[in-house]
Amino acid sequence: MQGRIIKGIAGFYYIAAEDTQIYECKAKGIFRKEKLKPLVGDYVEIEVLDQEHRTGNIINVLPRENMLIRPAVANIDQALVIFAAKEPKPNFSLLDRFLVTMERQEIPVLICINKQDLADNEEAQKIRDCYEACGYQVLFTSASKGEGIEELKQCLQRKTTTVAGPSGVGKSSLANLLAPGIDMETGEISKKLGRGRHTTRHSQLIEIFGGTYLMDTPGFTSFYVENMEKEELRYYFPEFQKYEGQCRFQGCTHTHEPGCRVKEALEQGKINKQRYENYLEMYKELEEKRRY
Ligand code: GDP
Ligand code: ZN
Repeated sequence: MQGRIIKGIAGFYYIAAEDTQIYECKAKGIFRKEKLKPLVGDYVEIEVLDQEHRTGNIINVLPRENMLIRPAVANIDQALVIFAAKEPKPNFSLLDRFLVTMERQEIPVLICINKQDLADNEEAQKIRDCYEACGYQVLFTSASKGEGIEELKQCLQRKTTTVAGPSGVGKSSLANLLAPGIDMETGEISKKLGRGRHTTRHSQLIEIFGGTYLMDTPGFTSFYVENMEKEELRYYFPEFQKYEGQCRFQGCTHTHEPGCRVKEALEQGKINKQRYENYLEMYKELEEKRRY
């Protein structure tokens, strides 16, 4: 039987199987030997050991579309990053770092600016223009007024989406609107598995409606781009790409070189200043790290 791992706790994997039941499975030794650790999000084949108690073994992990390192999850279609228009004020340095890490892993990102009801329209338009010009889809929502929810649902439809954003921006409020009646802390499945087991939080996929999964990532407040050569960073700014290879110097890092087309575009207002400054900031950090 096939299924999808929706949760993993202490060597047990919980599999939403094609018969719509949840099975508690172990991974057999072969996975450990081959260093293929099954991940939340993996599609697997299981053998059922006990139909009544719904236990079994994972006997095969189907090929992965992709995997994220943090959170460790497989077969993600997209990331939804949520910020608030106000309260808390959006931290664009943090957003740009998140975008870089997702670009690097080739995960499409959807940006959601919640608390639209508190937004200054001009400010909101600037955010939209900036990120749309970089190729990102930007949605505005208000969880308290129920605005933008249908559009958000459309974007999630039949996809597996990892959700991230600082605390206080309205992630839980939005989740409650997207999936009324599902407890996002424990997930619907906790009821089926019994009480008192899930006192600590684990990564898990929650099916909010048919074939549509959300994976909730612990809120982040800081974010460092790691293990990257500073020369690699420029590839993760989509708005730089049309200038790549056009600067005077080959391998131009767009930081200090003369005849740089990216800096020219910046001066002409074709590249957002704040995005470029965040690029420089990350570039410097990567440079400093390498010196140690
Ligand atoms: P989380 O930490 O990201 O899960 O954020 P919560 O969903 O807990 O929301 C944090 C606070 O913001 C709560 O007091 C919510 O009532 C409030 N909030 C959430 N969404 C909105 C919104 O769209 N507009 C306004 N004004 N407040 C909101
Ligand atoms: Zn350049």
